[in-house]
Order: sequence, then structure tokens, then C-alpha cells
Amino acid sequence: MRAAARLLEPLRPILEAALDVLLPPGCLSCGKVAGHGGQLCVACWTALDFVTAPHCARCGFPFEIDLGANSLCLACLRRPPAFDRARSLLRYDDKSKGTTLRFKHADRTEGTKAFAAWLRRSGRRFWPTPI
Ligand SMILES: [Zn+2]
Ligand SMILES: [Zn+2]
Repeated sequence: MRAAARLLEPLRPILEAALDVLLPPGCLSCGKVAGHGGQLCVACWTALDFVTAPHCARCGFPFEIDLGANSLCLACLRRPPAFDRARSLLRYDDKSKGTTLRFKHADRTEGTKAFAAWLRRSGRRFWPTPI
């Protein structure tokens, strides 16, 4: 079994592309055909609110205006958290809630590649070299 898997490994991209044609991947959020890669359809992608700068330098809470790279939110100023830095990938709202909960708690692991890519992009300042 392992020998067969090893022999087929170089063909994986071709087999995955063929499978995408035969069974187009569904959007992680709404289930409609998402196109190549099968992450999110255009409507769901544009509805998500990814957390980007400006944000709190410590907890990552998004700011409406840029207060400077080392600015802290009121919560972190009042009671500094035990961690040095944290970031959120998405604002948790009605648009992101379903996708996030299905991935975390419903074994919908087909979103692993998408979430990994989004997390890698979100955390690239933490890890300057690819991990
Ligand atoms: Zn969708
Ligand atoms: Zn903060």
C-alpha cells in the first residue's frame, strides 16, 4: 500500500486537478462551486473581513485608524495579557462564523489548505522564513 502511494505521489497534482473537474470543489462557506482550489466562492471571499493593519501590537485587535505600529488597545493597556503577540485571521462575525466553526468543530478538514495559507499570510511577520 505504501509503495503504491509513493508511486502515485508525483501524479498527485494531476489527479487532484482531474478530480476537481469531475467533482468541482464546493465553497467552504456556502457549498456552491468554488472553482479551482476549492476554497471560497467570490461572494463568500469578498464577504469575509480579514484582520489587517492597523491593529493592536499585542493582541491584534483591529483599529479603525492607524495609531502607529506599536500602539496598544485599551484592553491591553489596562491589563496587559500574558502573551507578547497574537493575531486573528478573521473578524468573527455572521459571515465568518459558519466557515470557522465547520472547520474547527465539524471535521470539515477540506478547508485545511485554505486556512493554512491564510494563517501563513497573517503570521508572516511572526515567522519571516517559511515553516
Ligand atoms: Zn460561497
Ligand atoms: Zn490589544
